[in-house]
Amino acid sequence: MSTLALLGGSPAVSKHDDGIFRWPIITPAIEEAVLSCLRAGNMSGIDITRRFEAAYAAWNGRQYALANSSGTAALHCAMYGLGLGPGDEMICPSITYWASAVQALSLGARVIFADVDPDTLCLDPESFAARITPRTKVVMVVHYLSHPADMDAIMSIARKHGIKVIEDVSHAQGGLYRDRMLGTFGDVAAFSLMTGKSFAIGEGGMLLCDDEEIFKRAVRFAHYERQQAVLGKDLDPAIGPIPWGGYKYRIHQLSSAVGVEQLKKYPGEIAEIDRAMRYFTDAIGKLPGIRAHYPRDPGSSKAGWYASVVFYDRDKLGGLSLPRFIEALQAEGVRNVHAGCNRPLHQSKLFYDVDIYGHGQPTARVNWPPASDPLALTGDLPVSAGVNARVITVPWFKHFQPAIIDQYIDAFRKVTAQHQELLAADAQSEVSGIWFKPVKD
Ligand SMILES: *Cc1c(COP(=O)(O)O)cnc(C)c1O
Repeated sequence: MSTLALLGGSPAVSKHDDGIFRWPIITPAIEEAVLSCLRAGNMSGIDITRRFEAAYAAWNGRQYALANSSGTAALHCAMYGLGLGPGDEMICPSITYWASAVQALSLGARVIFADVDPDTLCLDPESFAARITPRTKVVMVVHYLSHPADMDAIMSIARKHGIKVIEDVSHAQGGLYRDRMLGTFGDVAAFSLMTGKSFAIGEGGMLLCDDEEIFKRAVRFAHYERQQAVLGKDLDPAIGPIPWGGYKYRIHQLSSAVGVEQLKKYPGEIAEIDRAMRYFTDAIGKLPGIRAHYPRDPGSSKAGWYASVVFYDRDKLGGLSLPRFIEALQAEGVRNVHAGCNRPLHQSKLFYDVDIYGHGQPTARVNWPPASDPLALTGDLPVSAGVNARVITVPWFKHFQPAIIDQYIDAFRKVTAQHQELLAADAQSEVSGIWFKPVKD
């Protein structure tokens, strides 16, 4: 085998085609839909949005859909929709993007973090169960990095304790758990549809549910232009159609126009991504020190393969640090690879010590007895704390092009086979992870 590129050899990847990574795929149909919306000056209407909502709800088999300006907004509406409020606790996995959690603070609730399962990287049902208190109102379930959470166990714990379930499906649009669409298990689901995600429409978020009350509350919170139609006689004339939350979360219709077209081709696109990513992951998952992050349950999928990772076990590679391993891959010409994933949210002081709204005490303490300490309730989360040393975010191939993907596989094979040569100059630096996922890396 040739010398490692990091040590002066030639790189394993010589063929490049940026088209293999480009996302989303913009077709003439999308351009036409956007231009016709623009030309009609119809950006702030809701007619295209209604069509998008109806199609998205039908695709998922849910009754109510409410498009929002972002996934963050859709999650905020979902929390309010379930009545999350002062004195309540929401349990959320520590490993996720911040918008699964922070909005709860603005509602007077607080977030208690739970650990993730070391294999799924999604909420660990036992850790969730161990953090339930009489104040737990909601559990936030994230299908993290396209991997379905353990819904059977989570739903049975939640139902037993009367806890409402939000699914954050921002990483897994179109994914399945035991042959059933993600986003159809909990009481309400929210999806980010921003450009970096698998289902990419610009900026936007979708809320789905089957319960009319949740839908109405979500509308009342932040969708003033729809209150009249949705709330009807429930609209109090003394208040008028003013959003109770004081937010305006209407989606831009240019995004809805993209969404209508995107949905028509999305199932075909993610089928090709699945083929490409399985081909790649099957191959590198057999190498020493590398293991795939595959769903173990039958009928479960990683739809879209958003921000996919594989596990890294340095002990099988002579203790080689993850940053050094990544450095060697990048020298081989591997693009869009990096160490780690999201940084554990439970390590942010925001959730314990910050007086966000000027109450004169930390926001997470305002509505609770002084002895009730959110930091103590969260406690130690060893899997979350260690996850960034164990995962590699891998290139996200959108097309099945073996001529290119094979070279990437060769690069992984070369670096694992010759890992010993990298040990000498290994600075053993650590990976801290990121608070967000970059749109382009
Ligand atoms: C991207 C993301 C969000 C927020 O969505 P935006 O559309 O960016 O507001 C929420 N949750 C998760 C898990 C995300 O990755």
